[in-house]
Amino acid sequence: MIVTRFAPSPTGYLHIGGLRTALFSYLWARKNGGKFLLRIEDTDERRNSDAATQAIIEAFEWVGLDYDDEITYQSHRKEIYAAYLQQLLNEGKAYYCYMGKEELSELREQQMAAKERTRYDGRYRDFDGEVPQDIDPVIRIKAPLNGAMVIHDGIKGEVVFQAEDILDDFIIARSDGTPTYNFVVAVDDALMGITEVIRGDDHLSNTPKQMVVYEALGFDLPKFYHVPMIHNQQGKKLSKRDGATDVMAYKEMGYLPEALLNFLVRLGWSHGDQELFSFEEMCDLFDPNDINKSASIYNTEKLDWLNAHYIKNSSNTTLAMLLEAYGITLVSHDKKEILLDALKDRAKTLQEMATMVNEVISTPKSYDTKAVKKAFKGDAKAILEDFTMKLQVRDEMHLPSDYHDVMEELVNEKGIGFGKIGQPLRVALLGKLSGPGLDTVMAVIGKEESVRRIENAITGIES
Ligand code: GLU
Repeated sequence: MIVTRFAPSPTGYLHIGGLRTALFSYLWARKNGGKFLLRIEDTDERRNSDAATQAIIEAFEWVGLDYDDEITYQSHRKEIYAAYLQQLLNEGKAYYCYMGKEELSELREQQMAAKERTRYDGRYRDFDGEVPQDIDPVIRIKAPLNGAMVIHDGIKGEVVFQAEDILDDFIIARSDGTPTYNFVVAVDDALMGITEVIRGDDHLSNTPKQMVVYEALGFDLPKFYHVPMIHNQQGKKLSKRDGATDVMAYKEMGYLPEALLNFLVRLGWSHGDQELFSFEEMCDLFDPNDINKSASIYNTEKLDWLNAHYIKNSSNTTLAMLLEAYGITLVSHDKKEILLDALKDRAKTLQEMATMVNEVISTPKSYDTKAVKKAFKGDAKAILEDFTMKLQVRDEMHLPSDYHDVMEELVNEKGIGFGKIGQPLRVALLGKLSGPGLDTVMAVIGKEESVRRIENAITGIES
């Protein structure tokens, strides 16, 4: 069975790049009928917080990624790590190192002066002398001193490291007894039965160290997939300046989780030239072996395009519900369908849609000066007056087409183009020249409010 995992360190919020590797891991497990596990790497008490863990869980809930089994918390597993550390000490595969800070910096200086790579020199590896009493020792693992280490990476192919270039007997427990990152990751991945580790390629250099731990403990190696980073348009690692990195900020800005996941799955992975993937399709088609070898480029326009697509394809009931978070109460509005049908073709985000709804349902507080200048010239006011008179004598005005008919009648009678009535009417109703179709606007706000807005404009606008 394929078992994957996502293993965030709870230091703040769920990063967009983290969500992408979580999604890849999730999809691969689901596609294979396997398991997707969540492990919170919260061993660093100074940097980790419960609030950050909650933020990760909340982000998972929002996007709808579910995980199997209970969440594993590294902070609850101290005894397990201690037992494995002891096992390695007992078997002579790890040892206490009593090198003090001064000794270590002296060694570094010597190595730097000799232009050598700075590394621990193994002086306590097979030490049988008198141990210093005033030093709390660290535990180091016996790493291979030479030879090649090969990662058979599902994305990068064979990655070969020379042990003498990158390894020394690295520390697996600090002097206060706490185990280090590379040790606990290897122990946990093995004990949790992880068969495929899909993670960012910023972890590639950790992998040989984790392999040393696997080997020492006699665990089977998982398959590794190191996913290239997400870059900005300039080819640099994505940062806050390029767009939001906190997943929940995308919720606030009005992106739909379907759009965000669709966007993320295409960052580094493709299936022909297909851009739109439903959740089911992603689960059916995704394969980490098809992930690109090069970095992917973050592109806001693409995300907006996808979001517009998913907004357009959402039901009005769903949209009305989602818009409540932006202070819009439409659920019981009798013209909700007409309004949302018109706006869902135009909005890139829910936030934008909320602004558009407000622009329709609230009386304009001011009129855009440029728009007024352009629209309120000649006999604009007289045309608007004629239009209101026509509106007032009509009954049963409900649909956009009812309003369209009145506009049409007026332009035909007067022998004028639609723009002659359309432009001043638009300014009167919305305060500006952009926005959805006027017949829709009037149908949504109703005849009385339409007349009121037009009269306000006639008296309030100087022309
Ligand atoms: N905790 C690590 C991180 O947040 C990930 C470890 C891993 O995926 O192996 O970067």
